[in-house]
Amino acid sequence: MKKKIKKSGRNWKKFWKLGVEEWNTQFLDVSKDGELSAIEGNHIYNLNDLARKYGTPLQVVFPFVLEDRLKDLLGYFQAYMKIYGYKGKFFYHYPMKVNQNREFVLPLLSEGANLEVTSANELWIVKRMWEGEKFNSKIRVLCNGPKTSQYLSLVEELRSKGMNIVPIIEGPEEIERLSRYKGDVGVRVDLDVKADTKWDKKFDRFGLSEKEVLNLPKMKNLKILHYHLGSQIKTQKSILDGIKRAMDIYETLQKTNPSLDTLDIGGGFGVPYEKKKFYTAKTVSSKIIKSIKNISDRKGIKYPNLAVEWGQYIVAPAQVTIYKVISEKHISKGNAKSWYVIDGSFMNDLKDTWAVHQKWHVIPANNMHGSLAPIWLAGSTCDSDDKYTAGGNYVMLPKLRDGEDQLVAVLDTGWCQDGLASHHCLLSLPMKISAKDGTVSIIRKRETPEHIGRLFGWNGEHK
Ligand SMILES: *Cc1c(COP(=O)(O)O)cnc(C)c1O
Repeated sequence: MKKKIKKSGRNWKKFWKLGVEEWNTQFLDVSKDGELSAIEGNHIYNLNDLARKYGTPLQVVFPFVLEDRLKDLLGYFQAYMKIYGYKGKFFYHYPMKVNQNREFVLPLLSEGANLEVTSANELWIVKRMWEGEKFNSKIRVLCNGPKTSQYLSLVEELRSKGMNIVPIIEGPEEIERLSRYKGDVGVRVDLDVKADTKWDKKFDRFGLSEKEVLNLPKMKNLKILHYHLGSQIKTQKSILDGIKRAMDIYETLQKTNPSLDTLDIGGGFGVPYEKKKFYTAKTVSSKIIKSIKNISDRKGIKYPNLAVEWGQYIVAPAQVTIYKVISEKHISKGNAKSWYVIDGSFMNDLKDTWAVHQKWHVIPANNMHGSLAPIWLAGSTCDSDDKYTAGGNYVMLPKLRDGEDQLVAVLDTGWCQDGLASHHCLLSLPMKISAKDGTVSIIRKRETPEHIGRLFGWNGEHK
């Protein structure tokens, strides 16, 4: 006879979808007191304790997650190149746009990442790291985005100092200028494929059209063909469709530009935010290598070196954001029973909730064994859009207990949200801490009213 599992004996780790590698929660667990914890080797961080010590809202960064993810990714590509006899090099370029915080960039550089930047200001940070000898001189920096004169002169300056820095042609007006550049250049093509992402391809404005790329004049320094299909690609088929289309252009372009030797497939690899079945990097990296090899063999061309710029895949799972519930409001008509108002803001701190209806995995950080209710979450701004309802559905969270704080954790918040963050209603950004080698340190202090006032021109004399 099957034993009936009592509610108290429920497997809460499984219930909250923690400890599962394919969902990127393998480092998260539920303590015996029902609190969320993160495990790095022999170190355990109790997130409930951290939130009480440092206060909420709180972002917790786990550099070891970044390092593990990049190490695994490099390992997959290198292994499959070997297995399939692929003669070509693999390069990972970290797209700095996805998270420019020092605690993200430095660990990735030390694991062997190259870089990709989108603006003069990002490149300025690279310059500072370079001057501070924070990275190996051999790494390569790709420069995307429209090239303002400030951006171009910084590129020239760094090249003249010996950096391997490669500007990518983004628009027709850059062709002439960059064909005279004294180092390697790349070109971005707006591929004519329909990828399964949130991106509306009909109005893509990035790079040159396929026709413009194929009509490029002969450029002695053209090295890289680059494309980017958009973020959070939903199917592996879309990733592979892009490669097939790009390889046709690569072959033709190489005929007029024999220096071309690298295909850069951009970013877009997705993350299973909703903790449902999703494609994996291990499988897709194998298919990518196999596909490029087969196509090259059929066309009789040399295998291109391969570059990828998967940002979201690497950074999203490396940060958890924690809020405290400060108020409960009954809902009389709706899928959820109550609103929980949190002490931060979805609209400010997790902007994609509002901008692209991002789905998050929301779980309690304490009372994880408690009895649950269907909940909608609301931020503390005065904006009616500052809310999270899981797309009109609900999230399950513990019922509030008298005299006890309830903490709520949002997983996978490491991608882009910091760069997009804002100060609607002048709320402070979350404090940011990092947990590494058993030590917790503050990365960004909680913003004071003085600090925020200054951003809006209140420089001390509040008159
Ligand atoms: C945003 C971006 C990336 C990273 O995209 P992810 O979705 O984070 O993988 C890579 N390359 C370019 C050119 C981008 O604009």
